[in-house]
Amino acid sequence: ERLIGADSTREDEAVEASIRPARLDEYVGQPAVREQMAIYIEAARRRGEAMDHVLIFGPPGLGKTTLSHVIANELGVSLRVTSGPVIEKAGDLAALLTNLQPHDVLFIDEIHRLSPVVEEVLYPAMEDFQLDIMIGEGPAARSIKLDLPPFTLIGATTRAGLLTAPLRDRFGIVQRLEFYSTEELTRIVRRSAAILGIDCVAEGAGEIARRSRGTPRIANRLLRRVRDYAQVKAAGHIDHEVAHAAMAMLKVDPEGFDELDRRLLDLVIRNFDGGPVGIESLAAALSEERGTLEDVIEPYLIQQGFLVRTARGRMASHKAYRHLGLKPRRERED
Ligand code: ADP
Repeated sequence: ERLIGADSTREDEAVEASIRPARLDEYVGQPAVREQMAIYIEAARRRGEAMDHVLIFGPPGLGKTTLSHVIANELGVSLRVTSGPVIEKAGDLAALLTNLQPHDVLFIDEIHRLSPVVEEVLYPAMEDFQLDIMIGEGPAARSIKLDLPPFTLIGATTRAGLLTAPLRDRFGIVQRLEFYSTEELTRIVRRSAAILGIDCVAEGAGEIARRSRGTPRIANRLLRRVRDYAQVKAAGHIDHEVAHAAMAMLKVDPEGFDELDRRLLDLVIRNFDGGPVGIESLAAALSEERGTLEDVIEPYLIQQGFLVRTARGRMASHKAYRHLGLKPRRERED
């Protein structure tokens, strides 16, 4: 597994329960999202109603699941967690919805992966808190309508463009999570270190934060790997030097890139002369799926200005050439 991959691993899940923020004021960063959600939560509480449905989008590991936990906690209701691919049949969704208590939150991760049949059942449920399903087959089949308790659906997806328009339109609140700054990630690392009893000074946390690709999940994972190193080499104490040495051993470079990132940039530059190169060609050359490339690998490279997305494909920027110790194309031609 990729050390700096943003997708959740089993090890992440085991510790996430203890370090995941539970309240809005523990949720670091994302100031605009926090400010708006505080108001929507308070308004729903005062009216004694279920909060409007929320769509959260952003790359993996930025805190979509965490935000749902926080919202449910702040609303004082229960949270049910599921994901698009897990809800196979209309009946699966019906079972989830009919088990909710009034005002509960249902979180559907990867909501863009719901099947069309399930999506159809979700529309009236979201709009009118009505379940409209067919039971039985053939001539004996009939449709039944059920009233549902008012609930809040929180849907999460990596990119807004993956959702069908009718589904997107049924969310009253849409939030987009951004990559975190180094300062925010430093706060997250220090908070996690305190909870896990790890001895990590500010400079050590800063060094981990800088290499975490703007992603809290990666920051927390790197912290654990640096702790291992520190326990063996530095009596468990993480300062700047220890973090730096651990990162060198883990092959995470100062930009937070690993072999895969460097291979991608190298490929665009050497095999495709800096681009533009189509996403399909790039995926094939890397032996990665297009979706993985688009959701997991390239967003951070694009956000940091190493890769540029154009209508004709991806291009390597001057920054990418320099990062690999190469001369940018235009400078070569001069
Ligand atoms: P996503 O659902 O977007 O893939 P998660 O919500 O599972 O991401 O976040 C991964 C981990 O990162 C969480 O367990 C949590 O510890 C940490 N995290 C995420 N967002 C924040 C935040 N805003 N403040 C502090 N920690 C966070």
